[in-house]
Amino acid sequence: MPMPVPLIERYAARLPVTAKTPRLTLGEGGTPLVRAPGLERETGIAEVWLKIEGANPTGSFKDRGMVMAVAKAVESKATAVLCASTGNTAASAAAYAARASLRCAVILPAGYVAVGKLVQAIAFGAHVVAVKGTFDDALRVVREVGASEDVTIVNSINPYRIDGQKTAAFEIVETFGDAPDALFIPVGNAGNITAYWRGFTEAAADGLAKKRPVMYGFQAEGAAPIVRGAPVEHPETLATAIRIGTPASWQTALAARDESGGAIEAVSDEQIVEAYAFLARVEGVFCEPASAASVAGLRALAQAGRLRGRDRVVCVLTGNGLKDPERARTLAGEVLEVEPSGVAVREAIA
Ligand SMILES: *Cc1c(COP(=O)(O)O)cnc(C)c1O
Repeated sequence: MPMPVPLIERYAARLPVTAKTPRLTLGEGGTPLVRAPGLERETGIAEVWLKIEGANPTGSFKDRGMVMAVAKAVESKATAVLCASTGNTAASAAAYAARASLRCAVILPAGYVAVGKLVQAIAFGAHVVAVKGTFDDALRVVREVGASEDVTIVNSINPYRIDGQKTAAFEIVETFGDAPDALFIPVGNAGNITAYWRGFTEAAADGLAKKRPVMYGFQAEGAAPIVRGAPVEHPETLATAIRIGTPASWQTALAARDESGGAIEAVSDEQIVEAYAFLARVEGVFCEPASAASVAGLRALAQAGRLRGRDRVVCVLTGNGLKDPERARTLAGEVLEVEPSGVAVREAIA
């Protein structure tokens, strides 16, 4: 096996990396692209691929951007980083800050962070603060505190985040030798759809890809400001990672949609949970609920006959299923407890 190359080093020429940028790494990027035969059978699409971003060091794609943001913070002699988060940004910021010996504070919406993400931020030693409000409230507070304190904000309003995240598009292009026909992706704060579009655009401009994919983004029905064309004051969805009412990268998400000839649409929580269970039970891939919005969208568009001629598509699975164990528990009833005998077990699994 070749020596692992840090993401920052591997894509140095395509990132705002200088000789002074520390080559910070926890092994981010280089995530698996896995074929999804169950979805191919169901949709009739020749090739459906899953980009498993839950395989990143802290279990979500946030690590790609966070490694850049924290490395640049170190380069600029910062001593502390701050972010608002629905959970995964917090877990990622806390990990890379620990690695880089920076202080880290994370501001979360109280009661709406999946337990796996919360315990990561705690384990990595971040200051964890919950505000009585939504993610949008938390981000507003972070902007306010960031303006007066000597801290670096590492939300996706930090441009290095988007730069780091675009590397996922390069990886996909490298694998296929071209861009796929279409990309399906969950949309929350809209940084990731922005990042992928930038990555695919740069890959095409440099001749690494002959085309750019059609971009299909999916918001949860109860948190779909881009679909509705207006902020959502009280966003609601069980997919907490995309429970966002005023996306920071709204305009660039619209640009990705329009320049690619794609769409940003809403999927219901029911469709999200169905896709989530399908991925786990048919494909053997356990992602978090927000991630399954991409596959829920794929299924809906395929069923509506809107994907003819799209022969190779990629669904981005943004985070690991273990992030939200409580949601997984709801997929089945209680675990049976029986006497330790063959008779009892055979009866229980009959
Ligand atoms: C952050 C996140 C999203 C949403 O990404 P945006 O860049 O905010 O649109 C989706 N899924 C998971 C698991 C996330 O952590």
